[in-house]
Amino acid sequence: MLTITEATTRERSYDEAGRREVVAYVWPKGETLMENLAERYARPYEAWRPLVEAKLKELGIGYEKLAWRQRAGCTCPCSPGFVLRGNTRRISVSMTLEDVAA
Ligand SMILES: [Zn+2]
Repeated sequence: MLTITEATTRERSYDEAGRREVVAYVWPKGETLMENLAERYARPYEAWRPLVEAKLKELGIGYEKLAWRQRAGCTCPCSPGFVLRGNTRRISVSMTLEDVAA
């Protein structure tokens, strides 16, 4: 079962990639760099969305809308993530996704 097993927040500079809203990045655990390079343009983000929503709720991080953006963290498509519309806190969130036995 896909589970977010770790979530950390860090401060960010205000204009990281020109973006003023919080970004939540999801990192599939154990993925190699080559896999990441191959997979990051085609993430199953709709399957990830409810997990990310639940984790953000647990962390007490609110938003108006959770929007997947291929260019979430960079002006090129290297850093996809969920943008937390309406939340301009100066943080980023990193989540580790793992397939754990139910
Ligand atoms: Zn980039």
